Amino acid sequence: METLSEKMFERSKKVIPGGVNSPARAFSSVKMEPPFIKRGDGTYIFDEEDNRYIDFVGSWGPLILGHCDKDVVDGLHQVIKTGTSFGAPTAIEMKMAELMVDSLPNIDMVRMVNSGTEATMSAVRLAKAYTKRNKIIKFEGNYHGHSEGFLIKAGSGALTHGVPDSLGVPAEIAKHTLTASFNNLESVENIFKANPEEIAAVIVEPVAGNMGVIAMEDDFAKGLRQITDKYGTVLIFDEVMTGFRVGFKGAHELYPDIKPDITCYGKIIGGGLPVGAFGGKQQIMSLLAPIGPVYQAGTLSGNPLAMRAGYETLLKLRNNPQIYDKLDKLALRLEKGIREAAKLSDIDITVNRVGGMISMFFTDKEVKNFEDVSKADNEQFIAYFKEMLNSGVYLPPSQFESLFLNAKMDNEHIDFTIEKARDAFKKLTR
Ligand SMILES: *Cc1c(COP(=O)(O)O)cnc(C)c1O
Repeated sequence: METLSEKMFERSKKVIPGGVNSPARAFSSVKMEPPFIKRGDGTYIFDEEDNRYIDFVGSWGPLILGHCDKDVVDGLHQVIKTGTSFGAPTAIEMKMAELMVDSLPNIDMVRMVNSGTEATMSAVRLAKAYTKRNKIIKFEGNYHGHSEGFLIKAGSGALTHGVPDSLGVPAEIAKHTLTASFNNLESVENIFKANPEEIAAVIVEPVAGNMGVIAMEDDFAKGLRQITDKYGTVLIFDEVMTGFRVGFKGAHELYPDIKPDITCYGKIIGGGLPVGAFGGKQQIMSLLAPIGPVYQAGTLSGNPLAMRAGYETLLKLRNNPQIYDKLDKLALRLEKGIREAAKLSDIDITVNRVGGMISMFFTDKEVKNFEDVSKADNEQFIAYFKEMLNSGVYLPPSQFESLFLNAKMDNEHIDFTIEKARDAFKKLTR
């Protein structure tokens, strides 16, 4: 018998490429079909058959307060009654920007956009304008959205030019993005030496979350700031995932001495609605239209619904800093429990964790960059993922994605997950 999800996936595939509006949702990396999700409630999501899952995806990061948080929902109800978009300045945009500028030490001004992709794309344009240079450095395994300049693989002549990683990205654009190795300062130095006057920006996920969770090592972080200062290059932190996640001040809590020139946000700052933002030093942000020569715009940017959901989320996080302690404790409990569970079945795993972000790799090696990540066993992960899903635990469908804990979780959710992991590992060894 076909399930409702299977039927809907068939229907969707006829009218939406691959049946999804973002590729990872198709579950192709785990060789299965995705459940269609009908609703969420706190820590749980429910599919079309009313199967209940503990949700460790949290819409891929935004839902740090869980599904249907009362303050967010109440705020949205109020906005809906008074109009959903004006394309004109509103008080909630001003309050949101003030909250971010007051909370974040490296942000003098902030511009709202509609996605993380827009935030990083605009930040890079700004950096190129500010430095009057054309090239950027990104890191292998870091993700910055899908704008052309980021869909790049290292290629052979990686020191001097990047190569498109997607059809439709012209080589003329790709060549301006150079790829270095995460946590490897020498790879960055080599690119600077080969292109001393040309690098506009270095962009980095301070805690990488798109190749599993991997934090910058302290020396690497320090080195990035030193080398970008030395060459007059803009340092961009992509905190679309880590902002308000690894701590209220994001990466600043982990690397307080490293001050990026521009920081990108998204995910949590939209509270589950589509939002992105980028902000930084006044002298750089002042280059933006209408006060400066760098064009950047958006019909729905600063949308009242999105702003209100984000504002309620940030306000709640600011007023309840114990949420971060709770997420850290719960994630530590999960980390320990998963390690012990794997050990019982003699399965080699490496667990990386920063606060409430956690990921598990099927490997016995330390995981510090993309090369290490690539060595993890994917067949084992697929089997594990299926077992967990069937037991009511909704994990990201790739071991190279972070799990996200949310504020509605408690020990019982974690212990349930550990118990199911123990069963899943046992089945893997059979
Ligand atoms: C999710 C993500 C993006 C892209 O954001 P979208 O809203 O999906 O466009 C960019 N950078 C990082 C670090 C992300 O995690």
